[in-house]
Amino acid sequence: MPIIPKNAPYYNVWDRMDEYAPHEPDVTPEQLASYRKTLYGTVLGMQVWGVDGLNIRGSKDIDFTAGGNPARYRYVPNGELWIESALSAPDALGVAVHEGIETVFMIKGLPYSNAHDLSNVFEWNLRQAMLNGSVKSPATHADAMCMAEDWLHSKIEMVRKSLKSPYMSFPPAEVSALKQRLRSVGHAFTTRVDAEQGKRKAGEIVNSPFGQLRILSVKTIGSLFEHPFLKELTPAQQKLLSKYDKLDVIKFTLVK
Ligand SMILES: [Zn+2]
Repeated sequence: MPIIPKNAPYYNVWDRMDEYAPHEPDVTPEQLASYRKTLYGTVLGMQVWGVDGLNIRGSKDIDFTAGGNPARYRYVPNGELWIESALSAPDALGVAVHEGIETVFMIKGLPYSNAHDLSNVFEWNLRQAMLNGSVKSPATHADAMCMAEDWLHSKIEMVRKSLKSPYMSFPPAEVSALKQRLRSVGHAFTTRVDAEQGKRKAGEIVNSPFGQLRILSVKTIGSLFEHPFLKELTPAQQKLLSKYDKLDVIKFTLVK
């Protein structure tokens, strides 16, 4: 028995796109009228609406949280971004940046999980800037939308690079330890096998859940026993990697 019944009215997998495809919005005019509350402004040419989260979760999507965009959610009309109206102006600024850039990444062809991870990097940088005072928190939601637009334009080079660079994924379980290592040591290592082996070159710039990375070196080895960090690998990692006779040990750092 599936845990979520297939016909559950509150969970419709059709609502979500893992890859963007042009579509008609899956929402009725009545629903739209009840969801949209306040027009906050525009970001990247899209209208940003403050929406009624209580109503959306009660009648359309129980998982709607903080914000949504038409590249991910079929019920958000094209050319609109939605932000839950319960969020304060500074919080709405973070969400507007995230949803705006995620839409661009997905329409340009990145799958949702990659686009979402990259959007988190932009949102995180902005939230840090607000916390340390280098960006002043907006007083109103209208101000927040102007600031979201400015922030994204100031990062246009980073956006361009992100769109051009390939994406390198990491097992979710390893992300926080690697983040820690990048912060404390300045570089980290990953081992690539199978279809991932032979893909990366030294000097290359890639996107990742940590932001942009520079590949510092790639060392190809013929068995796990040549692995320079054999002792640091967990038994589970060793077991997995021992199956391969070609492995890339990749050293990488964050692009500042
Ligand atoms: Zn997202």
